[in-house]
Amino acid sequence: MYSNGTEHDLPPARAAPGSPPGARAEPFPLRPHAAVGLCNENRHLPPTSDSTYGVRVSSCIFCAIARREAPAERVYEDDGLLAFLDVRPITRGHTLVVPKIHAAELGDLDADTGARMFRLGHRLALALRRSELAADGANLMLNDGPAAFQTVAHVHLHVVPRRHGDRLRFATGLLLRRSAEPAATAATIRAALDEPDPAP
Ligand SMILES: [Zn+2]
Repeated sequence: MYSNGTEHDLPPARAAPGSPPGARAEPFPLRPHAAVGLCNENRHLPPTSDSTYGVRVSSCIFCAIARREAPAERVYEDDGLLAFLDVRPITRGHTLVVPKIHAAELGDLDADTGARMFRLGHRLALALRRSELAADGANLMLNDGPAAFQTVAHVHLHVVPRRHGDRLRFATGLLLRRSAEPAATAATIRAALDEPDPAP
Protein backbone atom coordinates (compact mmCIF):
# COMPACT_ATOMS: atom_id res chain seq x y z
CA MET A 1 0.00 0.00 0.00
CA TYR A 2 1.08 3.57 -0.35
CA SER A 3 0.78 4.61 3.25
CA ASN A 4 4.00 5.08 5.10
CA GLY A 5 2.08 4.47 8.30
CA THR A 6 3.34 7.46 10.22
CA GLU A 7 1.18 9.17 12.79
CA HIS A 8 3.61 11.91 13.58
CA ASP A 9 1.15 14.70 13.13
CA LEU A 10 -1.19 13.75 15.93
CA PRO A 11 -0.77 16.16 18.81
CA PRO A 12 -0.43 14.69 22.27
CA ALA A 13 -3.56 14.70 24.38
CA ARG A 14 -3.44 17.18 27.22
CA ALA A 15 -5.93 17.99 29.90
CA ALA A 16 -7.48 21.42 29.53
CA PRO A 17 -5.89 24.25 31.52
CA GLY A 18 -7.37 24.38 34.98
CA SER A 19 -8.44 20.75 34.94
CA PRO A 20 -8.05 18.85 38.20
CA PRO A 21 -4.97 16.64 38.53
CA GLY A 22 -5.42 13.42 36.67
CA ALA A 23 -8.20 14.77 34.51
CA ARG A 24 -8.47 12.87 31.30
CA ALA A 25 -8.00 14.88 28.17
CA GLU A 26 -10.35 14.59 25.28
CA PRO A 27 -8.23 14.11 22.20
CA PHE A 28 -9.99 16.73 20.10
CA PRO A 29 -12.66 18.58 22.06
CA LEU A 30 -14.76 20.95 20.01
CA ARG A 31 -12.46 20.95 17.01
CA PRO A 32 -13.16 17.91 14.84
CA HIS A 33 -12.35 19.93 11.72
CA ALA A 34 -8.88 20.68 13.03
CA ALA A 35 -8.43 17.05 13.93
CA VAL A 36 -9.22 15.99 10.42
CA GLY A 37 -6.84 18.52 9.02
CA LEU A 38 -4.08 17.37 11.27
CA CYS A 39 -4.39 13.68 10.95
CA ASN A 40 -5.23 12.97 7.41
CA GLU A 41 -2.12 13.97 5.56
CA ASN A 42 1.56 13.28 5.47
CA ARG A 43 1.42 9.55 5.47
CA HIS A 44 1.38 8.88 1.81
CA LEU A 45 4.96 9.19 0.71
CA PRO A 46 8.37 9.64 2.23
CA PRO A 47 9.57 13.17 1.65
CA THR A 48 11.87 14.22 -1.12
CA SER A 49 13.58 17.53 -1.38
CA ASP A 50 12.53 19.50 -4.40
CA SER A 51 9.15 21.02 -3.68
CA THR A 52 7.35 23.04 -1.07
CA TYR A 53 5.78 19.92 0.35
CA GLY A 54 8.77 17.68 -0.05
CA VAL A 55 6.99 15.52 -2.63
CA ARG A 56 7.84 15.51 -6.32
CA VAL A 57 4.92 15.91 -8.67
CA SER A 58 6.17 12.86 -10.51
CA SER A 59 5.76 10.82 -7.33
CA CYS A 60 2.46 12.38 -6.26
CA ILE A 61 0.44 9.58 -4.72
CA PHE A 62 -2.91 10.95 -5.83
CA CYS A 63 -1.68 11.27 -9.42
CA ALA A 64 -0.46 7.68 -9.16
CA ILE A 65 -3.92 6.60 -8.00
CA ALA A 66 -5.51 8.55 -10.87
CA ARG A 67 -3.19 6.73 -13.31
CA ARG A 68 -4.06 3.42 -11.61
CA GLU A 69 -0.44 2.95 -10.67
CA ALA A 70 -1.28 2.88 -6.97
CA PRO A 71 -4.17 1.01 -5.32
CA ALA A 72 -7.27 2.67 -3.95
CA GLU A 73 -10.87 1.74 -3.22
CA ARG A 74 -12.60 3.89 -5.78
CA VAL A 75 -16.12 5.05 -5.22
CA TYR A 76 -16.51 7.42 -8.19
CA GLU A 77 -14.66 8.38 -11.35
CA ASP A 78 -15.35 10.55 -14.36
CA ASP A 79 -13.20 12.28 -16.95
CA GLY A 80 -11.90 14.87 -14.51
CA LEU A 81 -12.48 13.66 -10.95
CA LEU A 82 -11.80 10.67 -8.77
CA ALA A 83 -13.17 9.76 -5.35
CA PHE A 84 -11.65 6.99 -3.25
CA LEU A 85 -11.56 5.85 0.35
CA ASP A 86 -8.95 7.35 2.60
CA VAL A 87 -6.54 4.57 3.53
CA ARG A 88 -6.53 5.73 7.16
CA PRO A 89 -10.14 6.79 7.66
CA ILE A 90 -11.32 8.83 10.58
CA THR A 91 -14.72 7.19 10.23
CA ARG A 92 -15.85 4.35 8.02
CA GLY A 93 -16.57 5.73 4.57
CA HIS A 94 -14.12 8.66 4.82
CA THR A 95 -13.64 9.59 1.17
CA LEU A 96 -11.28 11.90 -0.71
CA VAL A 97 -12.31 13.77 -3.86
CA VAL A 98 -9.41 14.77 -6.12
CA PRO A 99 -8.95 16.23 -9.60
CA LYS A 100 -7.26 13.81 -11.97
CA ILE A 101 -4.96 16.53 -13.25
CA HIS A 102 -2.31 17.52 -10.73
CA ALA A 103 -2.97 20.75 -8.86
CA ALA A 104 -1.00 21.30 -5.68
CA GLU A 105 -3.20 23.97 -4.13
CA LEU A 106 -6.37 25.89 -4.89
CA GLY A 107 -4.28 28.51 -6.67
CA ASP A 108 -3.27 25.83 -9.18
CA LEU A 109 -6.82 24.57 -9.68
CA ASP A 110 -9.24 26.02 -12.18
CA ALA A 111 -12.42 27.24 -10.56
CA ASP A 112 -14.72 25.01 -12.59
CA THR A 113 -12.89 21.90 -11.41
CA GLY A 114 -13.09 23.19 -7.86
CA ALA A 115 -16.83 23.63 -8.24
CA ARG A 116 -17.13 20.12 -9.65
CA MET A 117 -15.17 18.76 -6.69
CA PHE A 118 -17.57 20.32 -4.23
CA ARG A 119 -20.56 19.15 -6.25
CA LEU A 120 -19.23 15.60 -6.00
CA GLY A 121 -18.56 16.07 -2.29
CA HIS A 122 -22.16 17.21 -1.92
CA ARG A 123 -23.39 14.09 -3.72
CA LEU A 124 -21.17 11.87 -1.61
CA ALA A 125 -22.44 13.43 1.62
CA LEU A 126 -26.02 12.69 0.57
CA ALA A 127 -25.10 9.20 -0.59
CA LEU A 128 -23.42 8.45 2.73
CA ARG A 129 -26.65 9.36 4.51
CA ARG A 130 -28.80 7.00 2.48
CA SER A 131 -26.18 4.24 2.22
CA GLU A 132 -25.95 1.31 4.58
CA LEU A 133 -23.47 3.42 6.52
CA ALA A 134 -26.49 5.55 7.48
CA ALA A 135 -24.53 8.71 8.21
CA ASP A 136 -26.39 11.43 10.07
CA GLY A 137 -24.12 14.12 8.61
CA ALA A 138 -20.70 14.75 7.14
CA ASN A 139 -17.67 16.97 7.45
CA LEU A 140 -16.52 18.37 4.10
CA MET A 141 -13.06 19.89 4.39
CA LEU A 142 -10.35 21.12 2.07
CA ASN A 143 -7.05 22.09 3.63
CA ASP A 144 -5.39 24.59 1.30
CA GLY A 145 -1.68 25.01 1.87
CA PRO A 146 0.74 23.83 4.54
CA ALA A 147 -0.47 26.58 6.88
CA ALA A 148 -3.86 24.87 6.79
CA PHE A 149 -2.35 21.41 7.43
CA GLN A 150 -2.28 20.34 3.80
CA THR A 151 0.71 18.07 3.43
CA VAL A 152 -0.23 16.05 0.35
CA ALA A 153 0.48 18.45 -2.48
CA HIS A 154 -2.53 17.54 -4.59
CA VAL A 155 -5.82 19.29 -3.88
CA HIS A 156 -8.28 16.98 -2.13
CA LEU A 157 -11.66 17.38 -0.50
CA HIS A 158 -12.37 15.26 2.56
CA VAL A 159 -15.87 13.86 2.96
CA VAL A 160 -16.13 12.32 6.42
CA PRO A 161 -19.41 10.66 7.38
CA ARG A 162 -20.54 11.40 10.92
CA ARG A 163 -23.09 9.87 13.27
CA HIS A 164 -24.93 11.45 16.14
CA GLY A 165 -22.92 10.90 19.29
CA ASP A 166 -19.89 9.50 17.46
CA ARG A 167 -17.38 11.54 19.43
CA LEU A 168 -15.91 8.55 21.17
CA ARG A 169 -15.63 6.54 18.01
CA PHE A 170 -14.22 9.56 16.26
CA ALA A 171 -11.50 9.81 18.86
CA THR A 172 -10.87 6.09 18.73
CA GLY A 173 -10.59 6.30 14.98
CA LEU A 174 -7.89 8.89 15.32
CA LEU A 175 -5.84 6.45 17.31
CA LEU A 176 -6.52 3.32 15.30
CA ARG A 177 -6.89 4.71 11.79
CA ARG A 178 -7.59 1.34 10.28
CA SER A 179 -9.86 0.87 7.32
CA ALA A 180 -12.67 -1.56 8.12
CA GLU A 181 -13.71 -3.66 5.15
CA PRO A 182 -12.69 -1.08 2.55
CA ALA A 183 -13.93 -3.04 -0.47
CA ALA A 184 -17.38 -3.51 1.07
CA THR A 185 -17.44 0.11 2.23
CA ALA A 186 -16.60 1.39 -1.25
CA ALA A 187 -19.27 -0.85 -2.79
CA THR A 188 -21.84 0.47 -0.33
CA ILE A 189 -21.05 4.08 -1.23
CA ARG A 190 -21.03 3.36 -4.96
CA ALA A 191 -24.46 1.77 -4.68
CA ALA A 192 -25.83 4.83 -2.88
CA LEU A 193 -24.25 7.15 -5.45
CA ASP A 194 -26.06 5.29 -8.20
CA GLU A 195 -29.41 6.08 -6.60
CA PRO A 196 -30.98 9.33 -7.76
CA ASP A 197 -30.46 12.28 -5.48
CA PRO A 198 -33.66 13.49 -3.83
CA ALA A 199 -35.12 16.60 -5.34
CA PRO A 200 -33.70 19.74 -3.71
ZN1 LIG B 1 -0.86 14.91 -8.09
